[in-house]
Amino acid sequence: MIIRLLHVMPKGPRFSPAPAVSEAAQAGLQQLVPEALGDYDVWDIPCTALIDLGENWCGARCPVCSSNIEGWWGHAMDTAALAGGYFGSLAVTVPCCFVQTDLNAVDYVEGQVVARC
Ligand SMILES: [Zn+2]
Repeated sequence: MIIRLLHVMPKGPRFSPAPAVSEAAQAGLQQLVPEALGDYDVWDIPCTALIDLGENWCGARCPVCSSNIEGWWGHAMDTAALAGGYFGSLAVTVPCCFVQTDLNAVDYVEGQVVARC
């Protein structure tokens, strides 16, 4: 049996939809994929956090020059994390080309994201 999960993530890492908007999005998803089994869940967490997709981790690449920054990324996440694993500032300077960017702009190859919803 193959289980497929569909994650719908906001583009903005601090976006949190109003409840009515969230409910409308769930209704739209149910119309889009009526044959899907299981539940539709909306995670609305109190602060920005890494949304771990659970599997298929394929690394992290620089959003500017595409260098592999996976080794640096783990340390950058640990440094930026506040209590509870949430993030205040997402600002980072990538080690390969020294460009200022943010943790949500990192190319996560397989769609990891930093978000609230
Ligand atoms: Zn770079």
